[in-house]
Amino acid sequence: MPPPSLEYIPSCPICQSFENTEFYQKEGRTLLICRNCRHVWWRNLPSEEETSRYYLEQYTSGHGQETIQNDNREYYRNHLAELLSIIHKPAEETCILDYGCSIPILPHEAVKLSFRGVVGVDYAAESKEFGREWGVTVLSPSELTAVPDRYFDIARFSHTIEHSIDPAALLQSVLPKMRPGGLIYITQPNFPVFRFAPSGKDLKDTVYPEHLHFFSPLSLAELTRRLGLSVTKLFSHQNEAEVIRQCEGALDIDYARDRLKEYASKGDAVFPTYANYPYYAGENSVLHARVPGA
Ligand SMILES: [Zn+2]
Repeated sequence: MPPPSLEYIPSCPICQSFENTEFYQKEGRTLLICRNCRHVWWRNLPSEEETSRYYLEQYTSGHGQETIQNDNREYYRNHLAELLSIIHKPAEETCILDYGCSIPILPHEAVKLSFRGVVGVDYAAESKEFGREWGVTVLSPSELTAVPDRYFDIARFSHTIEHSIDPAALLQSVLPKMRPGGLIYITQPNFPVFRFAPSGKDLKDTVYPEHLHFFSPLSLAELTRRLGLSVTKLFSHQNEAEVIRQCEGALDIDYARDRLKEYASKGDAVFPTYANYPYYAGENSVLHARVPGA
């Protein structure tokens, strides 16, 4: 009798459910979707070594990050003001972490605004060089342990966690460094809540090995809930009506309406209906969450 086959069944990297199915095939790689939280991810993720090498060597220079980031100085200043207004603290009393800062323009602007503490995290040597020039501490992810516990009032993850092999572990590594009540700010490409079924559409942002995880508002909320964080804001933005049109028939609005009820009042009324509960059809999501214990 042949030995029983031990087929590898991947579990959802966010909610651990074993119920998943193929979502899309792209360039010989398979994207899976989770039945429970509708998270989408690559069946085969790269190794830690592969991703760190990729970011160390290729990503920053290859993507014209310096130009992109420099063009955004004014946006970053406004964004810092927005973050301060959320935590009701002046810059002088606020320590901020910009995780995945790339060329550290936002941290540089924070230094200029007299933030009490400013740290960027990035793999790229180039980020550290600019940091040295601008008086910004830029650490590798593994060096974050050197920061005192309960140091940061704000941790910002802008287009960062979807690049990580294990977003839950990444966030978990930062939590001891956060003050009780501190703000976790996450923004990244958004997948609306899709039906649990194969998709025939090539979806924007499914670029391997840069984007490894495609969060639905449900999987994003689930991720933060599992870490003990409390969500204070959740919405999406950009091209909502177009996404609704493009994804007609593929969205599971009834499921989103049912599962995301508790976030219905946590949207942003500045953005149109389709950006908020239960549609969340914008191309990017934004989540604010608080660290417990304030
Ligand atoms: Zn899941």
